Amino acid sequence: MEQIYNFSAGPSVLPKSVLEKLQQELLSYQGLGMSVMEMSHRSSHFEEIIKQAEQLLRELMDIPENYKVLFIQGGASLQFSMVPMNLMNKHNHAYYVNTGSWAEKAIKEAKKQGEVSILASSKDQNFTTIPSIIKSDIEPNTDYVHITTNNTIKGTRFTEIPDTGNVPLVADMSSNILSETFDISKFDLIYAGAQKNMGPAGVTVVIVREDLVGTHQEDLPAMLDYETYAKAGSIYNTPPTFQIYVTKLVLEWIKDLGGIEAIEKMNHDKASLLYHYIDQSPLFSNHVEEESRSLMNIPFTTDSEELDQEFLKLAESKGLISLKGHRSTGGMRASLYNAMPLEGVQTLIDFMKEFEAKHQ
Ligand code: PMP
Repeated sequence: MEQIYNFSAGPSVLPKSVLEKLQQELLSYQGLGMSVMEMSHRSSHFEEIIKQAEQLLRELMDIPENYKVLFIQGGASLQFSMVPMNLMNKHNHAYYVNTGSWAEKAIKEAKKQGEVSILASSKDQNFTTIPSIIKSDIEPNTDYVHITTNNTIKGTRFTEIPDTGNVPLVADMSSNILSETFDISKFDLIYAGAQKNMGPAGVTVVIVREDLVGTHQEDLPAMLDYETYAKAGSIYNTPPTFQIYVTKLVLEWIKDLGGIEAIEKMNHDKASLLYHYIDQSPLFSNHVEEESRSLMNIPFTTDSEELDQEFLKLAESKGLISLKGHRSTGGMRASLYNAMPLEGVQTLIDFMKEFEAKHQ
């Protein structure tokens, strides 16, 4: 089979060894004569899987004991609603930092639950930078501050986690969880859809300080209440069993590679290689301010729609797939998640050089 490098922003590339293990175990998991998809979520086998997934995540991310780890369905988009439903309880107010489309979607949902103030925004800069957050702008009579640690569409990331003092900090970490080390104690709630750095679409991880669980608005439906998941070890109803299993395998893969510190180094190497090439290229450019550049999602363009189209078409014919930029921005975007090997980035750069030489 031709070598394919998949630069999709999500769902995205998974480690090959994980896929091979899944293939081996698909018909009979641990000699049981059935796959993980077919077993009861209340079986001891699945209980062991979910327990291990949680333990691995705790170990890799160094999650303090006073945080709950929850596995929820509905994607990061459901968290746009669940966060305010559960946390906007004392002041009916929260601050949001607007760094792009996903933050805007989170803001839109939060406004349905209470009052929202924009603490900082990079909208005027077309979201090509991360705005500065001034601690003294945060009034204490608020429920939380919400940030998006990595902005998948525009390719920006927070390189410094803001200090919000006693006000809880909530983060949408969907597109850079497990890609670099974070001090979890700086956050009070983190959520992330699995389909970029953790596993397949269908499971969302929520890491929440335990004293924030159970303080929600009145009459919250059980499935929208963090407490339901916390009390039942995420097995209140049928969880996305196979997705949790694949996530466990991805976490084992990260551990075997040396943990998040090792992955972070690889991610810096991969991203620097591509940024370095783009920055000196007379043809391609990346419009993100240098200090705010993402390690995971790198948008680039020739600044000609026609050439971008030609590039995408040719790239695909060479096995470099899903490089099309988000429909709102156009151009190209290379997503270099954990499972993208260095050779993939090198192959992309070689192809870009070839394309550049032909279009000088
Ligand atoms: N937040 C961010 C930063 C994202 O990149 C995405 C998906 N691309 C979402 C939220 C929405 O995630 P989901 O599709 O899992 O609801």
